[in-house]
Amino acid sequence: MIGGGWKVTDLATAMNGEVHGDAKLSVRQVLTDSRRLSFPEDTVFFALKSLKNDGHRYIPELFAKGVRVFVVDHLPQVHRGKATFIVVRDTLEALQLAAADWRSKFKLPVLGITGSNGKTVVKEWIYEVLESEFRIVRSPRSYNSQVGVPLSLFHIRKSHQLGVFEAGISQVGEMERLERMIHPEWGIFTNIGDAHQEHFPDRETKLNEKLNLFERSKHLIYSCDDEMVYNAIQSRYGSSAIKLVAWGRNAEVADLLILNQSENEEGTKLELKWKSSQMVVNLPFTDKASIENAMHALTFALAFGVGAKVLVDAIKRLSPVAMRLELKRAHRGSMLINDAYNSDLQSVRIALDFMRTQQQHQRKVVILSDLEQTGLEAKALYKQLAQMLEERSISMLIGIGEKITAHSSFFNMPSYFYSSTSNFLSELPIYDLANSLILLKGARHFEFEDIAHLFEERAHESVLEINLSAIAHNLNYYRKLLRPETKIMTMVKAFGYGAGYQQIANVLEYHNVDWLAVAYADEGVELRKSGIQSRIMIMNPSEESFDQVLEYNLEPEIYSFGTLRAFHRAVQHQTKGHAMNAVPIHIKVETGMHRLGFEASDMGKLVDEVLAMPGLRVATVFSHLAASDDPKEEKFTRGQIAKLNAAANELIEGLGYPVLKHILNSSGIHNYIDAQMDMVRLGIGLYGVTFVSWERHHLQRVSRLITKVSQIHILSPGDTVGYGRSFKAERTMKIATLPIGYADGIDRRLGNGRGEVWLNGQRTPIVGRVCMDMIMVDISTIDCREGDEVEVFGDHISIYEFAERTGTIPYEILTSISGRVKRVYYQE
Ligand SMILES: *Cc1c(COP(=O)(O)O)cnc(C)c1O
Repeated sequence: MIGGGWKVTDLATAMNGEVHGDAKLSVRQVLTDSRRLSFPEDTVFFALKSLKNDGHRYIPELFAKGVRVFVVDHLPQVHRGKATFIVVRDTLEALQLAAADWRSKFKLPVLGITGSNGKTVVKEWIYEVLESEFRIVRSPRSYNSQVGVPLSLFHIRKSHQLGVFEAGISQVGEMERLERMIHPEWGIFTNIGDAHQEHFPDRETKLNEKLNLFERSKHLIYSCDDEMVYNAIQSRYGSSAIKLVAWGRNAEVADLLILNQSENEEGTKLELKWKSSQMVVNLPFTDKASIENAMHALTFALAFGVGAKVLVDAIKRLSPVAMRLELKRAHRGSMLINDAYNSDLQSVRIALDFMRTQQQHQRKVVILSDLEQTGLEAKALYKQLAQMLEERSISMLIGIGEKITAHSSFFNMPSYFYSSTSNFLSELPIYDLANSLILLKGARHFEFEDIAHLFEERAHESVLEINLSAIAHNLNYYRKLLRPETKIMTMVKAFGYGAGYQQIANVLEYHNVDWLAVAYADEGVELRKSGIQSRIMIMNPSEESFDQVLEYNLEPEIYSFGTLRAFHRAVQHQTKGHAMNAVPIHIKVETGMHRLGFEASDMGKLVDEVLAMPGLRVATVFSHLAASDDPKEEKFTRGQIAKLNAAANELIEGLGYPVLKHILNSSGIHNYIDAQMDMVRLGIGLYGVTFVSWERHHLQRVSRLITKVSQIHILSPGDTVGYGRSFKAERTMKIATLPIGYADGIDRRLGNGRGEVWLNGQRTPIVGRVCMDMIMVDISTIDCREGDEVEVFGDHISIYEFAERTGTIPYEILTSISGRVKRVYYQE
């Protein structure tokens, strides 16, 4: 990341640190996440601390991999004299000081972008519009946080002519720190919305906090159409030296005035006036957010002095910004990560890291176009790329483009090169791309969509989108509630609550959960076959499955003397009397659910039997709460907890070795945190669902079910819709047919107006009965076309509401979306 290298002494000075070790070393790579190590010998690792994790923990592991320079808040016991430590007061503050110092070495104009929505799109569009005129450095994806901003700033090099960085905050006080680092001469304020509201008393406070980014700026671009934004900016900066540049529809204030706006086949036509000249731009979008984002980008470019002609041309060609990396099922057992949008080294690295969180395929194939060359010279660029691919054990590379081909000798893995996408497509059939994880990553003009098209499995139009970043967020939310030493078992039973267990289990393993749990041995076997190495508890193992349990290193729940003895026989049979490591088992105690479990009074006998079975070892003892979500049942629940405690203590004492105790599920964690014992079993909360209303905004939504309009019909009065003619039009109306029905998991009870969907900004009811594969909805007042996206549940119709309308609970909704609904996974 860091250009010519940075001497440890200089780095230490920048952050008021004290060097222990060799101060003459120099570093080029800044690392904060130990899993993303790429170039050990050049790396400085910042041991950041969060509530739950502590980077200092990873020092030995990184040292073993060759890292020699560490920024720490205390001198560790290990590797003294062998590694170089820079000791600082606070490692995050040090990272930020270093970034500020790095940025201050360059005189380039820097643009800082903040606001509630659109930051990333505005940044990417500015890049798209100006890339032919300037060499631009920008934040990768949406790296806009207290850690993301410094990491972005280290990308600045001497050759850059413009820097574009986003700044995002979630709390008061944060923007000041970002401002100190970015120090933007230019600013864009996109807009103010309700996102990330929880830590601000009101919108004004949030708006004002965001405006702190521009304290030392010379130019600020904003929209004068939002009165609140206009007033805030005027009162804060109206009489300061900063030059305010507004766009909008108010002729008295707007520097870039919208004279007229109309929609046509190709998109939106905007007639604009900038200073004394008029211009017409055609934007290939019609939605409000895209128009706003494009206006911000355009206003900046004009104010920055770029000629209108260049801009008019570039705006016409703007394309949607892929805000996220998507993982989809591809043909012949493969999965595809498709990013046919850009290919700079940073975004390749991020995509490779995403690949790392999905280990279910041994074979990893990367199809990559020429890289964008921002700042690095070609040879160095491709050398770094080759090293990155090698470190991540990529099995095969297909390089497309003349530049990557010219550097083919750098790549040591099996690799094949083509000068163009069409040349590759004509030879595609010769490759065996079955059972692989395929990363497709190309700069826009290589048109990799054509390749994606051939790989992707085309199921029908309904999709369950699953946000893997949200799963990680929710996991971390619970981690913060728990004591640091409490272990977490995560539930991926029932196909990962409908989300798909291999992908979910991979993400959980990547985030170091202690155990996974599934209901049946088959599910555990599937996980093992897809490369999962974490410990896996099987909650309902049948006797027939015990051989599999042993073969695949799974751990059964034992809930009766019958299962205990049967499992012991299976162990003896398999080991044939040879001494082996004892097989871990989990003892379930009955405390009030009356489902599965030993009676508490059985403990004495259980101890005797287990001690006589040296091939077995009890790993944990647990019970399950029957009503942890219901405050009215607190007394009963406390009784269950006490009962488990007593039984577990008797068991542990009898066995004479340590055994972990656990009882809490997700609702239990909210309501009985003091009973977290040694471990909790996290289920529904991981998937973004909670039954405690104050907690909803702490969790992120994971699943969203969407479909598309298949056909539109006009009904005349008297026409009927669907089976049984249960709906009859009373007036002329318009309906849309959607390709999703009860075979997909849309309960029949949602028919005849009980259920609603969200379409182009409006809710609308289901008319007539739910069919097996389709539903019809009323679109009389909705402007929509065939192919438009429809949300069944997600952001506008919550899963809570959807479940309530169906007459059931979110658990049942999530787990009854049928397998034929395609799952698409993404990371933000
Ligand atoms: C499903 C399950 C859980 C998780 O419950 P949530 O309410 O989804 O958190 C925990 N323990 C057992 C035994 C379970 O079956």
